[in-house]
Amino acid sequence: MRKLYFILSGLMLLLADAYAQKVADRSHQAANDSRAINVGLEHISKRSVEAHLSFLASDALEGREAGKTGGRVAAEYIKAVLLGTGVKPFYANTYFQPFEAYSPLREKHAEFEVQPDSVAKYRQAAAYRELKLQNVLGYVEGQKKDEYVVLGAHYDHIGADELLVGDRVYNGADDNASGVAVALQVAKALAAGGEKPLRSIIFAFWDGEEVNYLGSEYFVAGFAQPSSIKAYVNLDMVGRQGVLPTFYPSFELPEGWDKPDTVANNSVYLLHTEELNVLGEQLVKEVAQLKLDLNPKPSALAHKSRGSDGYPFSLRAIPVLWFFTGIHPEYHTPVDEPAGVNLNKLTEISKATFLSLWRLAN
Ligand SMILES: [Zn+2]
Repeated sequence: MRKLYFILSGLMLLLADAYAQKVADRSHQAANDSRAINVGLEHISKRSVEAHLSFLASDALEGREAGKTGGRVAAEYIKAVLLGTGVKPFYANTYFQPFEAYSPLREKHAEFEVQPDSVAKYRQAAAYRELKLQNVLGYVEGQKKDEYVVLGAHYDHIGADELLVGDRVYNGADDNASGVAVALQVAKALAAGGEKPLRSIIFAFWDGEEVNYLGSEYFVAGFAQPSSIKAYVNLDMVGRQGVLPTFYPSFELPEGWDKPDTVANNSVYLLHTEELNVLGEQLVKEVAQLKLDLNPKPSALAHKSRGSDGYPFSLRAIPVLWFFTGIHPEYHTPVDEPAGVNLNKLTEISKATFLSLWRLAN
């Protein structure tokens, strides 16, 4: 009887000890968590957002067309910024992931493609077209090296048109210098926090989105195990007020979206596939707790929806969250200039994106 009593009390002590350790671990983890979040948020600034945006969307970059000089300069700029933040390259010694895309002769009016089958087919033809492109990829290693969260934004736009009268450069400030500026800020915030996330994070800057989602397709198609990518966060057009133009009649208003005249200046759509419903709700709460000047609107995104770089991920059943501030009359015109971008909103979206990435990675 006494022996049993001693064994039992010893066991209870052990259990109590293990429990106390667990509570301590958890509160230690929570402290690290909130420290990483606070430090990260402090490193996001309107001034940096503005600097990235105004360089990438300047006339000097000639609309960052895929395969042209302006696009390559943008890629070099992104690499230099990543290097400065301390975010490492995803591939051993380079931030660049070069690739080619092919299409038949121009007269066939066919899309450029990166799929090996079509590439082989084109290369058998007497003549075919080739685009030389490159993604820029940064990496923050997590405690788990075989689980990833990817944050991506395309840096290419549609170039310049010398036949245009007046302004001949499609600056693509909203589409998508805005998304790149946000992603660069998030990379800086994450590196500054200094805390190792649970899952590894890949910062991806895609080339060739405007051509045919080429960069993101090439990346996912070549990824050893796409199922190890637990979520993809996309930034495409996050700098303006979500107004839907009447000139774009084929665009149907998704369920839950505001009519153009009811859209608030600070609203942002959190388009997401159904696996991320809880995250969407949590983000709305956290944005309110942090008193960000932002009105996030979670909205359903069906899997296999086209429209941006979430498409290749969603085709492989990877959950997608897309930050998006909506279509506007300057979309794909030379008037999509930095002056039209709401820098305040871009700064607040950087904070919300950082939060969502941190939550997904942990
Ligand atoms: Zn875009």
